[in-house]
Amino acid sequence: MNPQYDLHAHSTASDGTLAPAELMRRAQAAGVGVMALTDHDTLAGLDEAAAEAARLGLGFVPGVEISVTWNATTIHVVGLRIDPENVQLIDGLTRLQAFRDWRAVEIGRRLDAAGYAGAFEGARALSNGRLISRTHFARFLVDNGHAADVRAVFRKFLVKGKPGFVAGQWAGLDEAVQWIRSAGGQAVIAHPARYTLTRSKLRRLLAAFAAAGGEGLEVVSGSHSRDDYFSMAHLARDFGLLASSGSDYHGPEHPWIELGRLPDLPDGCRAIWKEWPLSI
Ligand code: AMP
Ligand code: MN
Ligand code: MN
Ligand code: MN
Repeated sequence: MNPQYDLHAHSTASDGTLAPAELMRRAQAAGVGVMALTDHDTLAGLDEAAAEAARLGLGFVPGVEISVTWNATTIHVVGLRIDPENVQLIDGLTRLQAFRDWRAVEIGRRLDAAGYAGAFEGARALSNGRLISRTHFARFLVDNGHAADVRAVFRKFLVKGKPGFVAGQWAGLDEAVQWIRSAGGQAVIAHPARYTLTRSKLRRLLAAFAAAGGEGLEVVSGSHSRDDYFSMAHLARDFGLLASSGSDYHGPEHPWIELGRLPDLPDGCRAIWKEWPLSI
């Protein structure tokens, strides 16, 4: 039997709630054979995850999920099998982290003006000194009774038109693909069915991505429906992209996604791991 691949997940190095080593243990216990760590805009969890995966005999893929601004929309590009020592990638991510730090203060300032005091300090405390994500703001606002759950916070506070919204100024699409390629990795568009893009705009994104040297599309994602698997498989074929599969796991507090439950890729997909060495 083929091992189960899960090529998208988060740890406490970004907005996940399990430490990198804990994530690896939970993945193996759930039956995953090859696990990636793809934290938002940081490589900080990779050493710990790699060491624990090696100890467990679990296949490990070093990765990252890069925030990109394309046509005024935030897009996520996953890099797989990247070299965590690559200077171009590290320098690019350092710039995004600086924007994140500025944005966190700005989100806090706006929430404060809207009558929700202490959000920046609260989000920073929840991030434990690591990267601050909107998810940390969401958890703070839930803990303080301002919304029922994380998804409700996003709807009420953190998306366009809401009091805590700050527009992204992330990497360019070509730039993010270039960083990944220079680090020897493969670039994959994350959860493509989740963007609020029309079908024709999504096709334009994939054309630009493939032209920039992007190689993969996340056909199976924890945030996709069954219908999405098939329509994304179709798009991957249209644009000559390899198919990837990842849960986008953020921890047991987000019970709508669990590890080890990904379905097979639809028939006709070319799996991104097909050309990988078996020693992963
Ligand atoms: P950031 O990169 O800091 O802007 O935060 C983006 C993260 O917020 C995503 O990776 C998700 O984990 C989370 N997120 C975005 N939208 C939602 C939503 N509607 N409900 C729950 N979590 C969300
Ligand atoms: Mn996230
Ligand atoms: Mn994402
Ligand atoms: Mn993700």
